[in-house]
Amino acid sequence: MNVKARAVNGPTEAFEKTEISRRNLDQHDVLIEIKYAGICHSDIHTARGEWGDVHYPLVPGHEIAGIVAEVGSDVTSFKVGDRVGVGCMVDSCGKCVSCREGEEQYCEEGNIQTYGGIDKHGEHTQGGYSTHIVVTEGFVLRIPDSIPFDAAAPLLCAGITTYSPLKKWQADTGKKVAVIGLGGLGHLAVKIAHAMGAEVTVLSQTLKKEQDGLTFGAKNYYATSDPETLTKLAGSFDLIINTVSAKLDMSAYLNLLALNGTLVNVGAPSEPLEVNAFSLISKRRSFAGSMIGGIKETQEMLDFCAEHNILPEIEVISADRIDEAYERVLESDVRYRFVIDTSTI
Ligand code: NAP
Ligand code: ZN
Repeated sequence: MNVKARAVNGPTEAFEKTEISRRNLDQHDVLIEIKYAGICHSDIHTARGEWGDVHYPLVPGHEIAGIVAEVGSDVTSFKVGDRVGVGCMVDSCGKCVSCREGEEQYCEEGNIQTYGGIDKHGEHTQGGYSTHIVVTEGFVLRIPDSIPFDAAAPLLCAGITTYSPLKKWQADTGKKVAVIGLGGLGHLAVKIAHAMGAEVTVLSQTLKKEQDGLTFGAKNYYATSDPETLTKLAGSFDLIINTVSAKLDMSAYLNLLALNGTLVNVGAPSEPLEVNAFSLISKRRSFAGSMIGGIKETQEMLDFCAEHNILPEIEVISADRIDEAYERVLESDVRYRFVIDTSTI
């Protein structure tokens, strides 16, 4: 079927209206009528070619929320009308150790990304800035009834990308956790870490969003533009989640970790991040990375957010405003996730 979408045709091009084809349903496929699609900073890195070669036209979007419109003959987990979501992956090999352990994001053959990948049918995948998508049922998530569609969308990437390392590195009661960057990922990291029981500190470039950060559950809020911040907080945190989309002086932030602390990088700037060995060895610190989360853990995160009333702060926009939203994200002027109303596509 042909469906409406918004695509870019090159790294410096504006978004345009287009039509893309979605495959006919296989036995295990689900057709989703997309209601809302979040704008992740990864969409911008990708659309602008910052992460390498891109197949254009590209339809980004990996924070998808909608309704099941049709199911393949062997689909057992979903029925027409179900409230569902799709995140950053639409398939994986299903056989390797990572896939068998429910960590499809680390599939040894490489997971198939929601857009910018090539699927098992040999087609270029196209994402959620579109009215419909076809996804194999194993990669479709169930959206709890208490989470509205527009707020559900950002959980499918920003939510799981922060939930997964917070859980793995046990951001629970008694832990001091810092979040660098109060954007899409960062604001959810604050809400989730607070709900897990941690004492949360925000490290933002300025104090402009301080009141918001405290409302989201942070106990402390510092501006990194103040040179005193990084000296004052030396050795303070058990865990730091870096959500910044640009290159930072990692050694300066590693110095904020206590003995045995870990800094987990989820931000994905295109430039290499440099580390001074002494910022690690002086307090047996770890520098780690984490990529989204597996399907089972994504469902767990959605249920956790429903249980703890965690909703992303969103600004719903029409599809004609995607370019403008990208510019505002680049200026750190997002509060705190743009979400496209796909009925305007
Ligand atoms: P975002 O909404 O733009 O948030 C990034 C925040 O970083 C900004 O709001 C800003 O916060 C801070 N920041 C931006 N530029 C900065 C600079 N030059 N120096 C210091 N701080 C700066 O982006 P996002 O959607 O949350 O994504 C963040 C990053 O995570 C992106 O690189 C994205 O590609 C990556 N990502 C990774 C994964 C994964 O699986 N690991 C998944 C999704 C996204 P303040 O205004 O508070 O300073
Ligand atoms: Zn994303």
